[in-house]
Amino acid sequence: AALREGYEHFDPRAYLQNNYLPPRADFSSEEFVVPWKLRCLAETFATGEIHGHTLIDVGSGPTIYQLLSACDHFEEIVATDYLAVNREELGRWARGEPGTFDWSPFIQHVCKIEGRGEPWQEKERRLRSRLRRILPIDVHRPDPLGSPLRPPADALLSAFCLEAVSPDRAAFTRALTHSFYLAGPARLPVVPLDAGAVREAVASAGFALRELRVYAMPPALRPPVDDVDGVFFAHAQK
Ligand code: SAH
Repeated sequence: AALREGYEHFDPRAYLQNNYLPPRADFSSEEFVVPWKLRCLAETFATGEIHGHTLIDVGSGPTIYQLLSACDHFEEIVATDYLAVNREELGRWARGEPGTFDWSPFIQHVCKIEGRGEPWQEKERRLRSRLRRILPIDVHRPDPLGSPLRPPADALLSAFCLEAVSPDRAAFTRALTHSFYLAGPARLPVVPLDAGAVREAVASAGFALRELRVYAMPPALRPPVDDVDGVFFAHAQK
């Protein structure tokens, strides 16, 4: 209940500013966290092992960077979030409305690291045309979407959601099993996890962990916007 109430104060603009503008979104070096995340995603999708008709992104928030490499491998991308303010922000971006967050540096960077010489506007167009559904979700319910997704998702992606919406490890681990078959002013707690805890939760939710990468947040990127000291990137299969 406390978490739900906390999220009522979530301000998409402040969240984007804290995490997706410099110093975190600094593309000049891979020491910074945003280029690290984009490389994890680019390299994982470049293996060609993750593809299909539908990809669902769980807890998309107001962001699309996490879909830039994925969108080449799926016909349809389904974005989801608990908050209407975030779903509306994503809808405005997908329709190309003016005044939304500028993702172009992210798109340019992803095109660069993917190394196919693709003009970034083409990737932007592809993602916009594939992002056709933006649905409400609650990962704490056994049926997070209310009813199963049709057609079912072939793959699931989720960034910074489960640990940011779970009050403790038990809730995090439960949410991980739920998400399988779908498949400003807020100060929000994040459940503390180490690599061992992530391995354990992923295994107990019935996934085979293919790869776990660990990023240590450098001192320059630490507070004031949160107390995160690292980031995990997991590729797992069920
Ligand atoms: N994926 C984005 C946003 C992560 S922030 C990124 O990579 O930056 C965490 C997100 O979880 C927020 O958008 C918040 O609205 C959403 N959220 C909060 N409670 C939730 C719940 N119960 N179920 C699913 N998502 C929730």
